[in-house]
Amino acid sequence: MASGIPKRQDIAPEYKWNLNHIFQNDEAWETAYAAAKEKVASLAAYEGQLAEKAEEAIRAYFDFQDELTPVFDYAFLAKEADNGDEKAQAMSDRVMTLAVQAQSALSFFEPELLALPEERLRAMQADPAMADYDSYLRSLLLQKPHTLPKAEERLLAMLGEVTHAPSNIFDMLTSVDMKFPEVNMPDGTAQPLTEGTYSTFIHDGNRDVRRQAFEGIMGTYGKYGSTIAATYGASVKKDVAMAAARRYPSALAAAMEPLEIPEKVYDNLIEVIHEYLPVLQEYLAVRKKALGLDEVHMYDLYCPIVSDFELKLPYEDAYSLVLEGLRPMGEDYIAKLREAKTGGWIDVYPTENKSSGAFSSGGLAKVHPYVLLNHNDNIDSAFTIAHELGHSMHSYFSNTAQPAPKRDYSLFVAEVASTCNEATMMRYLLEKWQEPRAQAYLLNYFLEQFRTTCFRQTMFAEFERTVHEMAQRGEPLTKATLSEVYYELNKTYYGETCVVDELIANEWMRIPHFYNAFYVYVYATGLCAAVSLSDRILTEGEPAVKAYRQFLSAGSSVPPIDALKLAGIDMSSPEPLRRAMEVFKDTLRRFRQVM
Ligand SMILES: [Zn+2]
Repeated sequence: MASGIPKRQDIAPEYKWNLNHIFQNDEAWETAYAAAKEKVASLAAYEGQLAEKAEEAIRAYFDFQDELTPVFDYAFLAKEADNGDEKAQAMSDRVMTLAVQAQSALSFFEPELLALPEERLRAMQADPAMADYDSYLRSLLLQKPHTLPKAEERLLAMLGEVTHAPSNIFDMLTSVDMKFPEVNMPDGTAQPLTEGTYSTFIHDGNRDVRRQAFEGIMGTYGKYGSTIAATYGASVKKDVAMAAARRYPSALAAAMEPLEIPEKVYDNLIEVIHEYLPVLQEYLAVRKKALGLDEVHMYDLYCPIVSDFELKLPYEDAYSLVLEGLRPMGEDYIAKLREAKTGGWIDVYPTENKSSGAFSSGGLAKVHPYVLLNHNDNIDSAFTIAHELGHSMHSYFSNTAQPAPKRDYSLFVAEVASTCNEATMMRYLLEKWQEPRAQAYLLNYFLEQFRTTCFRQTMFAEFERTVHEMAQRGEPLTKATLSEVYYELNKTYYGETCVVDELIANEWMRIPHFYNAFYVYVYATGLCAAVSLSDRILTEGEPAVKAYRQFLSAGSSVPPIDALKLAGIDMSSPEPLRRAMEVFKDTLRRFRQVM
């Protein structure tokens, strides 16, 4: 560990989270651990009995989840704060083992429920005594028509490891076997190029550094292109085959339907983003001018335009700024944020062996969420506070408003509350800091968020849709066909203003998310929903805040699209996407004024 990073015991208690809110001490954790372990055996005894005892078993199953969660959180969070703490490591390992044992002992549970007659499931869903579990039953009923007879389900389960093969092969090839050329730095040294260092190099102010990194990464992937095409092609064909086996009309439908997201959400996103591609091109033209380049290449997209604005923001100041910026969210929201700061929710500073990055951990009705930060005294860290506390507030309001089986919100809305906070704070800072360099920095930060999250992820989403359609039509998925689709998309998105370098055709080869199909679009829809909601809150005030609170409190009690409707936006229509894109357009207009 590098010197200068403080040890955990040197940090004042008010800047560390307090895990004793979950369990008083390790002994209490041991007791809860033993109880949860015993529960697994009693739950396993329901196997073969669900036809008679479904209600009782569902209750016991969710009670178990509720008991396991704090046992897991206590150990996991202690380990994250200090990965060198052997006791925490051991506790975390034990609870992971328990979770795996539980998963295997309870693997009968959902298939057996799904095998019950539809009328039986519907009757349970309508039973007032089962009201806490109606969302779970709703999701079972959605899966029911796509559940196969027992022998066929058994066959599919046996193929589980095989269907995961493409993703495993990709991981092995790219993280173990593949090696990239070094990058020659201006100081005469040669630095290793990896997927990890690539993101630093591609942001480098020195054009030659980022060009070398780009060519090194894309060129190396290209050499393995045929293997990766075979691997990815197998993954896509697996999606198509599984969808057909389960009687979904397409692989896209198989991905969207179980999560209760209408397919048109996906199609609308691509359509609206295309409408605004000319605005993206305009932004890239401003970037070209600001960087003083005669051509913008694919490796010029990430380096900062505005780098000479720096502001020292120690944690106390950053937190105050967040409280001011989020004032439009309502007084009780702010009161909760104050409580989070003083109430042992947050672990603030980087310390020896602490995990990097930042996250918010969901919490329970009885216990508040926890937030891990690695605060760095700058603006980015202030935005991180707003972001992570957004997750925490979403969890807090859902946890307290909903019974345990309905508290976890859907993946589709997972980044909405966090990004809504960032967007709200952004608008506040743009009012507060009027000097041109600050304005330029903030506006560029916001524009980059749109470019990388909305435009880039939508381009990925479009690639996935096209490739799956090709597979569905029986067209070949090879290095040449896949690269052509990807290159053409880059031309459509960037082509008017940028030089679309040939090597960019290989970029699809390095995206691990593609092995989990039809997932990346939620980054784009999430940002659009968040920007739309923030815009509503800032322009309409109180009624919009009230509606937004209903969304934050909804958990998974209603489908995610309906949860967002509570907040006043309909993501099955293009309207919130356009509203967000208009904010992008306006941000660009202001950026041009200060550049
Ligand atoms: Zn997040």
